[in-house]
Amino acid sequence: MKPVDFAHHRATGLDDALEHLNAAGEGAKLLGGGQSLGPMLNLRLVRPHVLVDVSSVAALRTVEPARERMTVGATVTHAEIEDRPVSDVIERAMREVAAGIACRAVRNRGTIGGSVAHADPSADWPSFLLCAGARVHIRGAAGTRALPVTDFIRAAYTTDLAPGEIVTHVEIPRAGGRASASASSAARPGSSQRRWARC
Ligand SMILES: Cc1cc2nc3c(=O)[nH]c(=O)nc-3n(C[C@H](O)[C@H](O)[C@H](O)COP(=O)(O)OP(=O)(O)OC[C@H]3O[C@@H](n4cnc5c(N)ncnc54)[C@H](O)[C@@H]3O)c2cc1C
Repeated sequence: MKPVDFAHHRATGLDDALEHLNAAGEGAKLLGGGQSLGPMLNLRLVRPHVLVDVSSVAALRTVEPARERMTVGATVTHAEIEDRPVSDVIERAMREVAAGIACRAVRNRGTIGGSVAHADPSADWPSFLLCAGARVHIRGAAGTRALPVTDFIRAAYTTDLAPGEIVTHVEIPRAGGRASASASSAARPGSSQRRWARC
């Protein structure tokens, strides 16, 4: 099956993305890495008239490794997190999580913001971010807001995002000096993969 016809708008900035999202209303869908949205389009589970592509928006692509909390832009890819140098237990755990996602081709395109916004219960980032006590930062026409992942994800594939809102970044607290982290993830039924990572 093929997607319905849609227009593709490559946003030049956050304001431009918000403008196009709000102008198109219900008919618009935000495009991050397209690794979950692509299959949904092909199956016609979603039928947008316009895709607002935020993958090139510079403001969403930054990583700020501050001392107390690091912030990771929504369109930072799994591969970029996998390839980052690590300086503490949180960054090491994030590298292990990123490296465990699917294959490099998916990791090259898929984004942390897209993963948390999609809220697939079998995805890696939502559970990691929840355990790490992360906050999700959101921007919409009415301004900005932030909420813990526990409140952001309401149920499987359901978040607190209102129409026209964009996840801008996630904010992850640093762990204390004596902290340790481990992540394990069982692959989906039917797959022979099983991953374990300890940091
Ligand atoms: C073959 C395959 C295997 C995979 N295996 C795994 C796996 O093992 N573990 C895992 O965790 N994931 C896996 N994934 C999913 C992958 O990690 C996706 O990249 C991720 O779930 C969605 O990120 P994306 O950037 O591609 O989002 P997209 O597909 O572009 O978007 C997904 C949804 O989020 C919305 N969205 C995207 N960005 C934003 C934003 N900034 N603000 C608000 N809404 C936004 C979109 O409108 C859409 O509704 C797999 C995908 C594929 C194709």
